[in-house]
Amino acid sequence: MKCKIQVVICGLCSKTPEVLDTGRLASIAADTSMVASVMVVDKLCNQKTVKEIVQEARVKEVDRAVVLPCPRRDVTPLLVAAYGRVGVHDSLVEMVNLVEEVLLPHRNDREGAQAKAEAMLRAALARMTALTQLEMASENMRTKNVVIIGAGASGLEAASVASGMGAHTILLEKTGKSLKAPDVLLSSARLVGAAGYGGNFTLTIEVGEVLEELQCAAIVVATGGGWTQLRGPLAKTCKGAKTLYELHGQTEADDAAVDGPLVVVDTPDPKGATMKAQDFAWEETLDIVVRLKRARPEVEIWVVFQEMRAFGLAELTYKEACDLGVRFVRYAQSSPPKIDPGRSDVLNVKDLAQDETVAIRFGTIAFASIPPNPDNQLIADILRLPMSEDGAVRRGSVQRGPVSTPRPGIFVCGSALFPKTQAMAVTEGRAAGAMAGEFAMRGTVEYGGSVAVVEPDKCSACLTCVRTCPYEAPFFGETGKAEIRQQLCQGCGMCAGICPSKAIQILNRTDDQIRTEASTLMGGVH
Ligand code: SF4
Ligand code: SF4
Repeated sequence: MKCKIQVVICGLCSKTPEVLDTGRLASIAADTSMVASVMVVDKLCNQKTVKEIVQEARVKEVDRAVVLPCPRRDVTPLLVAAYGRVGVHDSLVEMVNLVEEVLLPHRNDREGAQAKAEAMLRAALARMTALTQLEMASENMRTKNVVIIGAGASGLEAASVASGMGAHTILLEKTGKSLKAPDVLLSSARLVGAAGYGGNFTLTIEVGEVLEELQCAAIVVATGGGWTQLRGPLAKTCKGAKTLYELHGQTEADDAAVDGPLVVVDTPDPKGATMKAQDFAWEETLDIVVRLKRARPEVEIWVVFQEMRAFGLAELTYKEACDLGVRFVRYAQSSPPKIDPGRSDVLNVKDLAQDETVAIRFGTIAFASIPPNPDNQLIADILRLPMSEDGAVRRGSVQRGPVSTPRPGIFVCGSALFPKTQAMAVTEGRAAGAMAGEFAMRGTVEYGGSVAVVEPDKCSACLTCVRTCPYEAPFFGETGKAEIRQQLCQGCGMCAGICPSKAIQILNRTDDQIRTEASTLMGGVH
């Protein structure tokens, strides 16, 4: 098999040359056998540059690439896709992140930075040389069905978009409510079982009291939030307390209807045993209090919290809230706020900054922490999806697919991902519907690549891999030895790590390949 490597070094908007000698890196690459092309470019994140890179790759007929550096995670998939168009498989494109692994840790150590960059380049080249072109297989999808779990705002939007792309949508709604759905709406329906993989799932659905099997190519999890399930000691004593959703809805509909003074407390459970204020809830809280204060400056507004993390532009919203006169009071977990025993409309808070207790009278009290939907856990267990600490379905990657999950063909949106406003839920529903629709309309599903394989001679049939794999990929067939269903394998490596007989290898991450890379990194092999 040919092995012709292209090495691309990005000047990273001209920052890299100040610390690193890119010319020296380029000459190391050029002196390595199997390297057919070396390019030093200014901006890898520029489309024109990417075109030039793949043009050179085509001319030089390279079949693998080492790229350094690009810290922007949104650039990597675009570059990998561009290489794919000229025949370089994605498993043979290696990104070496010099920014996070060299430039940042060695910013005051030019010599150390250069030495590490050179070692990483050599290791990447050694690894590339040891890799093989992996075979991919494909099979036809049995249907173009997209099953959407939850017929709330995001679920309906997802169905409408996927249907518009030609997919056949089936909405599962656990309540018996009647809604207008683009294709099929199954009311009083819930998911109770799932088998298969992206492209060819078989779901078991309970419709009323009847169990039905449903084939589908893609799934969208669009369960709503747990709107009213506030838990914790403060929820019990604050009668009439609102969730953040309810407060949002009220201020959007008619901010005059909010009785002042308004107090927003981080969580009804200050000890944090059951409910914590999620980071994203602060953004929403700050937006609400600023909007209300702008509309009704006379209303007294308090925000009571232990920790507040508001990122990016939310910092400006916090500043505006302070300027408008919103009062922020921080308390310690050991002295949680309490409703005054004598007055149910007064909250006593020990102000951490002033070391004194403030008695806040309120007309409206709300909590910033947003309850997750209790169905999320059940659905995640059935579909084998990981959960976040907040009780929401965990997404795959913020940069590469904010509505994707670690399992191909399963998408997530709205408050299943984490509780959020209706407008955001609708937007995400649209994105998830588009991704599920596109996935279902491909017609074929591709699998293989960097997946697990078992060496039957070494397998002692201990079943450890079967019990360990989160995706149910290992199985025992007629051979009496473990085998891997490649369609289900995500190449996570858990089985390879735990197999007591060392019988499992991950293709292109085999022990020998890792040893070669590691020994080069340590300076053993050049
Ligand atoms: S863990 Fe290893 S030895 Fe045990 S069944 Fe799986 S492959 Fe075989
Ligand atoms: S690599 Fe991960 S997904 Fe694949 S069989 Fe092993 S444990 Fe399962």
